[in-house]
Amino acid sequence: MAFPQPIPGPRAARGKVQGIAVAPGLALGPVHIVLTGPADVPTWSVKREDVPLEIGRLAAALNAAAERLEERQRVVATTAGAKDAEIFAVQRTILKDPHAMSDVERMISEQRINAEAAVKLLIERYQEALGKLEGANVRSFASDVSDPWRYVLDVLLERDREQALLTEQPVIIAAAELTPAVVTFLARSRLLAVVAETGGRFSHGAVLARSLGLPCVVGLPNLLARLEQGMTLTVDGDHGFVLLAPTDADVKEFLERKRSREGRRESVRAEAGRPATTQDGHSLRVQVNVESVRDLDTFELSHTDGIGLFRTEFLYLERNEFPSEEEQYRLYRRVLERMSGRPTTLRLLDIGGDKALPYFQTPSEANPALGWRGIRITLRWRDLLRVQLRALLRASTAGDLRILMPMISSIEEVREVHQLFDEIRAHLGAQGYTTADDVPVGAMIEVPSALLELERIVREVDFVSVGTNDLVQYLLAVDRDNPWVSGLYEPHHPAIVRALQHVADVARKAGKSCSVCGEIASDPAVALLLLGLGYDSISVAPQFVPEIKYAVRHSHHGELVQLARDALAQDTAAGVRAQLEQAGRRSLSNS
Ligand code: PEP
Ligand code: MG
Repeated sequence: MAFPQPIPGPRAARGKVQGIAVAPGLALGPVHIVLTGPADVPTWSVKREDVPLEIGRLAAALNAAAERLEERQRVVATTAGAKDAEIFAVQRTILKDPHAMSDVERMISEQRINAEAAVKLLIERYQEALGKLEGANVRSFASDVSDPWRYVLDVLLERDREQALLTEQPVIIAAAELTPAVVTFLARSRLLAVVAETGGRFSHGAVLARSLGLPCVVGLPNLLARLEQGMTLTVDGDHGFVLLAPTDADVKEFLERKRSREGRRESVRAEAGRPATTQDGHSLRVQVNVESVRDLDTFELSHTDGIGLFRTEFLYLERNEFPSEEEQYRLYRRVLERMSGRPTTLRLLDIGGDKALPYFQTPSEANPALGWRGIRITLRWRDLLRVQLRALLRASTAGDLRILMPMISSIEEVREVHQLFDEIRAHLGAQGYTTADDVPVGAMIEVPSALLELERIVREVDFVSVGTNDLVQYLLAVDRDNPWVSGLYEPHHPAIVRALQHVADVARKAGKSCSVCGEIASDPAVALLLLGLGYDSISVAPQFVPEIKYAVRHSHHGELVQLARDALAQDTAAGVRAQLEQAGRRSLSNS
């Protein structure tokens, strides 16, 4: 049977390529093609004339790695003794092996790949050879041979990415697939936009692009084959298309559109400090989703009603090893202090699936979305949860902390977290730490079983927050990261509207606060629908806050209740979308 392939795009290098809008915004600039592999080492193509530069990077990294090894030798010699420290001298000698060096250089010049990709290939080659060896001692020797090269790789990955760019200008990243590694490939200040051949609109790569305010377009088959390193592109993240090598007229038209877009944004932003209250006095709390401590500077405090979702796993993803309790405590404290008493919801570690920690090996799973992720990992590896809860509770006196549990699928999980929470709080008290009197604990509703068990769950938690990114994938049985089924990932499906209504009804009856922190809420029309359904808050990437508040302020609650009724009456996603579009237009005409 022929396997269906993504539809190839036209072959010409210049022209418009229509894709799928993932994150709004307009960008113009040179492209930087990133060929990321499955492991976390990015690979990119290198122009023939830049090969010597790449070999220079390799040589510099070798020197820096040798210095690191020397430093380690010094440290270990003082802590463990000179004899144990000798291994680092041996490792430095290994790095001087001219054969290995010339192998890596050959890979760079023949395959025209970057130095880190070539070093990764060398390490893989050592490992392959290692697998074929007999005997534990011989094997451990072979592993020692590859070890010092990991230092070289570290140096290359940590220091040189930005210098490796061909241009001083910020760039548009182009990749085969939209992953978190691609989106965080360079510091935000060096990035203009991200475009990818494939990737889910609600994947974690997409979530990151939106939270970083990076225009992003996916669904661009064959894009990489049509690009050249450094080619100029325009990216339209509002309408989901990319122009390759635009003409002067294209650029002029693009810049005009950008100017008028910015004008509108400025006028909406000017009002963003006002509350999201409808003209007849119903309020929605509009909070923000945050992925890293750096994001705290990307929004005005006065524009938001707090943090509705801090994805703490990204703090873990940014490091080379698990952050200690002390480090976490300091980070959480900083977050709470920055929020100056506003509600601050930190979610417990939600790793697994595409959020893999490089230093924490999880099994390779056929179905990662249905596998070992979120609370399932931390309830098994309880020390992870213990350390995080201790750090959170210690920081709790610095602000209005709320804790959110991810991927809850049964009441037992809620109870286990609560039990641990109580034990840790008591233990901290016995150790002389003070913790806040009230630290509400809420559950993410993102697994269908939690939806069906909601009446019971809601009695045992302080609030609920709907994670529609996952809820859509689980309710519709459509992997949010699988490009083959991305067309079926339909957040406007009538079943989703009914699920949202169910959560609002159950939470309201129980007198508990309910929010939506999935990406769906960032559409102002959906935010209006949620207010009409009875949600008291939503949480979205900061850039969406002004438009949402504006739409709420130009609506009447009665109209929104009617919108909810009309949306619930639809039997197709297209019908729901039509209702939402109408509501969006109505709020604009009220303004
Ligand atoms: C969600 O699933 O909607 C959510 C907010 O969490 P994440 O996207 O991090 O899985
Ligand atoms: Mg989720």
